[in-house]
Amino acid sequence: MKRIYGLETEYGIAFTAGDSRRLGPEEVARYLFRPVVEWGRSSNVFLPNGARLYLDVGSHPEYATAECDRLDDLIAQDAAGDAILTDLLARAQTALEADGHDGRAHLVKNNTDAQGNSYGSHENLLVRRSMDFSHLTSVLLPFLVTRQLMVGAGALIPSRPSMQAPAAESNRAASQQEQGPAAGEIAAGGSRAFGLSARSDVMWEGLSSATTRSRPIINARDEPHADAEKYRRLHVIVGDSSMLQATTELKVGTAILVLDLIESGVPMGDRSLRHPIRDIRLVARDLSGRTALESAAGGTTSALALQSLYLEHATRLVERGDHSLGDDATAHRVIDRWRRMIEALEAGDTSPMAGEIDWVLKKTLMDRYLARSGADWDDPRLTRLDVAYHDITPGVGLLGPLAESGRTTRVVGDDAVTAARSTPPATTRAALRGRFVEAAHAARRDFTVDWVHLRLNDQSHRAVVLKDPFAPDSERAEAVIDALIDEAPSSTV
Ligand code: ATP
Ligand code: MG
Ligand code: MG
Repeated sequence: MKRIYGLETEYGIAFTAGDSRRLGPEEVARYLFRPVVEWGRSSNVFLPNGARLYLDVGSHPEYATAECDRLDDLIAQDAAGDAILTDLLARAQTALEADGHDGRAHLVKNNTDAQGNSYGSHENLLVRRSMDFSHLTSVLLPFLVTRQLMVGAGALIPSRPSMQAPAAESNRAASQQEQGPAAGEIAAGGSRAFGLSARSDVMWEGLSSATTRSRPIINARDEPHADAEKYRRLHVIVGDSSMLQATTELKVGTAILVLDLIESGVPMGDRSLRHPIRDIRLVARDLSGRTALESAAGGTTSALALQSLYLEHATRLVERGDHSLGDDATAHRVIDRWRRMIEALEAGDTSPMAGEIDWVLKKTLMDRYLARSGADWDDPRLTRLDVAYHDITPGVGLLGPLAESGRTTRVVGDDAVTAARSTPPATTRAALRGRFVEAAHAARRDFTVDWVHLRLNDQSHRAVVLKDPFAPDSERAEAVIDALIDEAPSSTV
């Protein structure tokens, strides 16, 4: 079984001022993107590794990986994005200092900025158009509502959620229940608690085609970046950005396996939750996974029970080799980590997972800090610790030293990440895009690229169309690339 997937990550920008004037994120973003604009004449570019790097509204730089059809490629391409951005950050820091700005620019791979805006990570997953969409949602939604128990980034969130949707957003969810549900087993101060994910509180619908107005868990905007008769691209926007590679792998790997279950017709029954939007907030506040959730079909279930059920079905699929993770070793690793996390929760001790799962590691670090300092969950110093957990500024973040001392699990090696910075995945159409970008740039030709098209601007009527994301070769594309390589100044050497 094969599937295409890609991961988008939005980063937060911060500047800690020294003596000089405080710089806003827009100004820092301009420094950050200066080399990008020099290279590609735009702050919205496709790179030689097939990825897209751009500056979105709100000064959140975004890196969208190339299309992958192997999970290990996706992890490497995603990690390459972090590496590319930290390099840009180092260059921005040098330029800022040269311009007399005394202070330090930071990049944080987190999910909420200081203004309370929520952002994070979008998962893009190709599914066959023929798949019954209401069946898909009935299986995928309960999985996504409860997945945070396995892979949440961990967050300091209000002990009780507001169920009042912001005025500009949908009021559908708010009508279900005005007062937030009481929490399960939580670590809480007076008003704040340690929860699994901050994204849960900003989700107001299960499925919809608008991203900003009503924040659905699954965005059904029909933009497949592929043959629309054959495929859909699911846009899952509920996920946190992950810091630990093992968490990224489990987060995306389990979602892919659940789609594999649905597409291979495994009977899963109707797993729908009666109140998914209320439940996602409940689950975020229950570190035990045992809070009762009402099933639409009647009776109750829990996050732990649902995740165990999905795991059981996925295990059988992987044993048959019937999955789209790329290779069996990767699939077994995902299953094994999923199982160990569930067993740890069942045993009431998640500490063995601290090197692999973001929320567990973050909570361990915070618990330790609380014990040392006597602070409580409402303490603003914990907010700083939370940001430091996600800080990818070299030499600054909390995770660098932990990774160096081997206390966190790596999924792909440094060599694979370094390669992924300049090399696209070999087995999807991204391979063609990457080579085209590289060749057109070397030949100093103006070009325009998107997920489906490759275009030289002076031949814009002759765009190469790559409608099949699975196809790493195309005679037309290769002819254009070869001609560009012949043209490039370096080819005369
Ligand atoms: P925006 O973020 O600007 O709203 P968008 O959701 O289309 O637009 P991009 O930031 O351009 O997203 O990223 C698209 C992501 O989808 C990339 O990670 C890419 O690899 C992935 N992708 C492209 N084509 C497909 C496809 N056919 N199926 C699944 N994923 C795809
Ligand atoms: Mg995007
Ligand atoms: Mg997107």
